[in-house]
Amino acid sequence: MADQKVEFFRHNLNDDDIELATEVMRSVFLTTGPKVAEFERKLATYLGHGHVVGLSSCTAALHLALLRYGIGPGDEVITTAMTFCATAAAIIQAGATPVLVDVCPQSALLRLEDAEKAITAKTKAIIPVHLYGRMADMRGFVALAERHNLVIIEDAAHCIEGQRDGVRPGQLGHAACFSFYATKNITCGEGGAVVCRSEEDAAWYRSARHHGISKNAASRYTGTYQHWDMEMMGWKYNMDDIQAALLINQIDRIDGYRQRKQDIETLYRELLADVEGLDFIQPPAQGETSAHHLFTVLLPIDCSRDGMLQSLQSQGVGCAVNYRAVHTLKYFRDTFGYRPEDFPTAYAIGCRTITLPLYAKLTDREVHTVCDSLKGSIQNGSV
Ligand SMILES: *Cc1c(COP(=O)(O)O)cnc(C)c1O
Repeated sequence: MADQKVEFFRHNLNDDDIELATEVMRSVFLTTGPKVAEFERKLATYLGHGHVVGLSSCTAALHLALLRYGIGPGDEVITTAMTFCATAAAIIQAGATPVLVDVCPQSALLRLEDAEKAITAKTKAIIPVHLYGRMADMRGFVALAERHNLVIIEDAAHCIEGQRDGVRPGQLGHAACFSFYATKNITCGEGGAVVCRSEEDAAWYRSARHHGISKNAASRYTGTYQHWDMEMMGWKYNMDDIQAALLINQIDRIDGYRQRKQDIETLYRELLADVEGLDFIQPPAQGETSAHHLFTVLLPIDCSRDGMLQSLQSQGVGCAVNYRAVHTLKYFRDTFGYRPEDFPTAYAIGCRTITLPLYAKLTDREVHTVCDSLKGSIQNGSV
């Protein structure tokens, strides 16, 4: 079986990307400098709006975006129970209280009406998550935020490429946060960015990502020495030039990858359509563009998810779980006293979901292998 292993993920770095990173490594200065600036301009151009600041992670971006709007102790921030734990953790890092909300059973996205019910006098912000690559209803969230005077910060870790109702990530929100972690749509191993509304915002993020220091590292050391000052509280969240060099040309290729992933998802849905009891997350609507970051299926109720994970992996098929609901994780149970039934839909999805390989380099043949392995595991009763 080992010879037909299907990896869970393979990145798209090519020789040109590695060459560009090598150029940086042969230069004098490895950290935040001209390549980061070039990447920021290029991502903003790709998105078609806003100002981009390169950071060390999406979690850092979420943390800083909350701080930018003065959100901290005593404030509540609404987000979804079906996301990666970092979304809720960033709220806690800012000193605020995460208020989890259950999700739509069809799309697994945070719904407007559910978010609205969770609004209290303490609510300061909502973080919708563009889960699996499908955008949340940003027009709706922004209208809701205007009615209640709230900040909208988009967790766009899964979605750089998407579009819904003519809106792109970061276009309507106060800020949108991207991840370039190892398995994300474009990657440099670890990295992130925020897209914000104004040059003034961007200048704040540039200072906040670097200890709150007035001058950036490159200008302090590559020119003649000048005194710098720490003007505000800051963090160590800067992206470096090696990371930026790896990302710059991936932006040119990202739409091609997205198209391939869309085709793969279509093939998966066809090949798995006849599996009894298997449920799917709703596909994007007509006219909507998903980034197709993850493809997850909901296993038949009588099927053991852990059994399936084991069975697929023993057949050489990489798989994962995105995600067990946030409120079922130990820290959140212990800290907030959550019980599984508090958010029944997120809990049910979190118990049944399994993520199958989805990346541009995946071949149709590999998709068939994955589907055969999954069907075989159900049919031979091993799960
Ligand atoms: C990956 C991910 C994050 C965190 O991204 P990092 O760059 O690893 O900090 C946040 N939210 C979601 C939904 C993610 O998938």
